[in-house]
Amino acid sequence: MEIPKSHPRYHSLMTREKLVEGVKEGLAVLEGLIAHGRGEAFDYILGEKSHDFALEAERAAVALMKLAKHPVISVNGNAASLVAKELVELSKALNAPLEVNIFHYSKERVEKIAKKLEELGGTVYYRGDAVLEGISHARRIVDSRGILKADVVLVPLEDGDRCEILKRHGKKVIAIDLNPLSRTARMADVTIVNNITRAIPEMIEFAKEITEEEAEEILRKYDNKTVLKRAIEAIRDHLTKMAEDVMNA
Ligand code: ATP
Ligand code: MG
Repeated sequence: MEIPKSHPRYHSLMTREKLVEGVKEGLAVLEGLIAHGRGEAFDYILGEKSHDFALEAERAAVALMKLAKHPVISVNGNAASLVAKELVELSKALNAPLEVNIFHYSKERVEKIAKKLEELGGTVYYRGDAVLEGISHARRIVDSRGILKADVVLVPLEDGDRCEILKRHGKKVIAIDLNPLSRTARMADVTIVNNITRAIPEMIEFAKEITEEEAEEILRKYDNKTVLKRAIEAIRDHLTKMAEDVMNA
């Protein structure tokens, strides 16, 4: 489908097309489209931009991963469809391997996602030779070299249960989730309320900039509760402004 650059919703529509392509290629599943739609709605009411609280969380996320012993980036079908190239770049910049981890499990899909990341030059774990106790669905299957031994896990577009399990296993969790009300957002140690398509490229830049010394300072000052509060307030403020615009039009 051709989307003219002049279309007012060009970026949003292009992103949607990428995900549709991802489903056709067998990287993402239909349920992923629903999750994306929910994300789009939150992006809309946040004004479709990277807010200061998101940038602050992205910096904290990078800092946490820089100081980690075994940082891992978990990749699902949506993430692979939308930002595969960027995830590989972030993985290299942070020295954090990628691990394929999907909710609707199929060996074939795991291999497809892994192949895509490997073709882009990524180091990818997807052996699935270990389990995280306490979770029933397929995502308890992890790689013994990756998430099993990780101390910090970046889980873009994750659901609440999984986030909870990672935490129960003593891991620090970084979530990217446009919904600041989700269980994932509330449970993570660092919550990036931003679109993954903006967050990952910004994190790549931060990863190049931030030194270990700065990382410690960033984490000392970071407060995730305040970040979540600011995200919810940003929705309120944006809606107030939109309501005023309607009256002034
Ligand atoms: P929870 O179980 O945490 O309460 P949920 O069940 O609503 O959350 P899932 O469907 O499990 O959520 O996961 C999808 C989440 O990812 C949604 O909260 C959605 O807002 C978010 N999301 C979807 N697409 C994007 C995107 N492109 N960037 C950032 N977040 C996104
Ligand atoms: Mg969920």
